[in-house]
Amino acid sequence: DPRLKAITEAIRVVPHFPKQGIMFQDITTLLLDHKVFKDTIDIFVDRYKDMGISIVAGVEARGFFFGPSIALAIGSKFVPLRKPRKLPGEVISEKYDLEYGSDCLEMHVGAVKHGDKAIVIDDLVATGGTLSAAITLLERGGAEVVECACIIGLSHFKDDCSVNGKPLYFLVEPR
Ligand code: 5GP
Repeated sequence: DPRLKAITEAIRVVPHFPKQGIMFQDITTLLLDHKVFKDTIDIFVDRYKDMGISIVAGVEARGFFFGPSIALAIGSKFVPLRKPRKLPGEVISEKYDLEYGSDCLEMHVGAVKHGDKAIVIDDLVATGGTLSAAITLLERGGAEVVECACIIGLSHFKDDCSVNGKPLYFLVEPR
């Protein structure tokens, strides 16, 4: 797909952010290029439009940049999966381990229901820990997770393109 080269080039790499040694993949520069931003959304829309997807779940915060546009275009709902204490209603929570410490995602009770078919979207998958927690949350809510989708995936996922037993789809590798 010739669009992928431009998508890769639109992602800025910021060395040593947020800490020494990390090559941070910054997708905010992709959002500033209308054609590349639209191509990115279109690729996901073409992939998911005829799969009976009823829920696009976006991971806070960068999944929120892409999820709602995809959801509107494929005729599905958007469900935010948020960091702790952001959602005002009753929530279910899923803790997950990070390299140092742990984090947590929350989803509103009632946001998904039994029989929903969901995809999860985030900007980047590294260990898969975040997406794994997202999958578990959606399944606890009764939804079936069809696939996880990201803009950027680390190359070790090339061999086994799955997270927590669910297919993983990503567009490009880090620069
Ligand atoms: P994982 O849970 O797969 O190890 O890490 C993925 C999460 O960390 C995603 O929510 C993603 O937004 C964030 N993340 C980690 N490294 C980067 C990076 O270099 N660039 C961006 N944009 N996000 C990152």
